[in-house]
Amino acid sequence: MKTGKINVQTENIFPIIKKFLYSDHEIFLRELVSNAVDASQKLRFLSTNGEFKGKLGELKVEVILDSENKTLTIRDHGIGMTEDEIDKYINQIAFSGAEEFVEKYKGKEGAEQIIGHFGLGFYSSFMVADKVQIRTLSHKKGAKAVQWESNGSPEFTIEDIEKTEIGTDIVLYISEESKEFTEKGRIQGILDKYCKFLSVAVFFGTKTEYIDDPKGEKDENGKVKRVANEIPNQVNNIAPAWTKKPADLSTEEYNSFYRELYPTTMESPLFHIHMNVDYPFNLTGILYFPKIQENIEVQRNKINLYSNQVFITDNVEQIVPEFLTLLHGVIDSPDIPLNVSRSYLQSDSNVKKISSHITKKVADKLASMYKNDRKDFESKWEDLKIFVQYGTLSDDKFSEKAKSFSLLKNTEGTYFSIEEYKEKVETLQKDKDDKVVMLYTNDPVEQFGFVKKAKDRGYDVLHIDGPIAPHWIAKLEQTYENITFSRVDADTLDKLIQKDEEIPSKLSKEDEEALKPLFEGVVSKDKFTIQFESMNADDAPIIITQPEFIRRMMEQQKMGGGGFMGAFPDMHNLMINGNHAKIQEILDTKTDKSKKSKIKQLTDIALLSQGLLKGEALNQFIERSIEKV
Ligand code: ADP
Ligand code: MG
Repeated sequence: MKTGKINVQTENIFPIIKKFLYSDHEIFLRELVSNAVDASQKLRFLSTNGEFKGKLGELKVEVILDSENKTLTIRDHGIGMTEDEIDKYINQIAFSGAEEFVEKYKGKEGAEQIIGHFGLGFYSSFMVADKVQIRTLSHKKGAKAVQWESNGSPEFTIEDIEKTEIGTDIVLYISEESKEFTEKGRIQGILDKYCKFLSVAVFFGTKTEYIDDPKGEKDENGKVKRVANEIPNQVNNIAPAWTKKPADLSTEEYNSFYRELYPTTMESPLFHIHMNVDYPFNLTGILYFPKIQENIEVQRNKINLYSNQVFITDNVEQIVPEFLTLLHGVIDSPDIPLNVSRSYLQSDSNVKKISSHITKKVADKLASMYKNDRKDFESKWEDLKIFVQYGTLSDDKFSEKAKSFSLLKNTEGTYFSIEEYKEKVETLQKDKDDKVVMLYTNDPVEQFGFVKKAKDRGYDVLHIDGPIAPHWIAKLEQTYENITFSRVDADTLDKLIQKDEEIPSKLSKEDEEALKPLFEGVVSKDKFTIQFESMNADDAPIIITQPEFIRRMMEQQKMGGGGFMGAFPDMHNLMINGNHAKIQEILDTKTDKSKKSKIKQLTDIALLSQGLLKGEALNQFIERSIEKV
């Protein structure tokens, strides 16, 4: 037996490893299993390459738990290590074996796939173990099996052992404080999380499956009995969908992979994007568009990030643009730096490129879906619009592309592109400043009266709703200089779409002055601005509106934006249609008392039609109306 000291640099590294990863001790298993997978793939590579001439056995990784003796063994049948290699790759940890391997096989096909970039690697085992042994036999001809052992201090021993099978056993003697890792369920959980899609089969214990009785015994109904059968428990799917060619996958297979990723989700995704990039960075993956649920927060941040099929994190905040964090699926890239800080990720140029590539891919996919099957795209629009609107607001490049597939729906349920809609309403809805006014409602039931009036006039009304729609239409107004959006209840129709011609008013200045104080007696001055308008005689006698500007400010205030003005007053306009017969009638009414009661009734009706008559006022209105029956 020989003793030695692990390269001096490690003396400083041990305490750092322990501290740095304190909250995340479980990753030791990811590191060891992925080392085992690397070693297996290296041997396969050398075998295909002709450099290893021996028999390539079944390449599998076994995780063996001995709860009684508190050991956990990670066994592979990969390339193994000679004593010299242990010295180089383990004792001098600053000298990464992976780096040397790559240097040697650079440019040869498949070489890049076997590199782990995890940095902490093997030594992370000392986070959970008092003692670690490496028992290994190299694939090299005439190699001697050796055992390396260390208790986490820089001292180690190395000795010859009996081992006939090529490969490596890493044996961890789990420490008292980490005894959770001697529990079967805990280990299974970690393997499920990190190792579900590793490219070499990983086994942990056994599982029970039920099969037809091999002896053919029958039950009382004459059917072959089902019997329990213990089989090795494979943890992973070695060929997950994203590693395959899109041409080899059916929609059904994409959907079943979706369920493999999210076993608790019942819904199928709307569609998917399969990514495969190898320049200027490596990235594969599948992104799924889910059906948006009421509570979007539970659907957020579900994209899993992998590096060569090793799970890294489900926090992809920096890598995927924010508006796409509602997407689901997998991204696999060996080019994303893994154990680095957030702020570093933000400035990393690869990460930026990846993010903008994903944005481009999503935009291109939407554009091609729109082009190839417009009807199908329309049927998905209600689910898609939140992505498109959000993307339009947050990403200029996306916004530019989204022009071609952003849809507007009118109250009849017909979809239009923005250009198509502009063309449709241009003739009737252009105002005197040459702007095309797009009328919309966010609630056709509540704003029924306004919608009807607009339609009666031959105008078309859009149905635009959703949490970010107000911001989206503001953005469209910026993008298209000659269009403007107005909600149908923002003003009278004549004001919403101002034409050159004016309707003459039947009210004189004196008439208005006589009426105004009477109206001021029935509504609060702080909440209503009283105006006289010369409208059509068949418009309502009194119309209550909220100006587009005030409403947008209030909406922004609610969403927590635009705070510069402080609280914004909830003001409405009360517009009196001087040309309506009822207003003329009031002028001709004898006493002030009966004038007032008529005004009160008309105002309440106007308030009622806007859903603004409430509580006591509503009750009084109802009682008054019943009396009149
Ligand atoms: P990395 O994997 O990033 O190189 P590690 O600390 O995980 O860093 O591993 C260091 C080196 O030790 C590996 O590059 C490899 O050469 C060697 N090694 C670790 N585990 C095994 C194993 N199971 N079989 C063969 N070699 C291994
Ligand atoms: Mg490693």
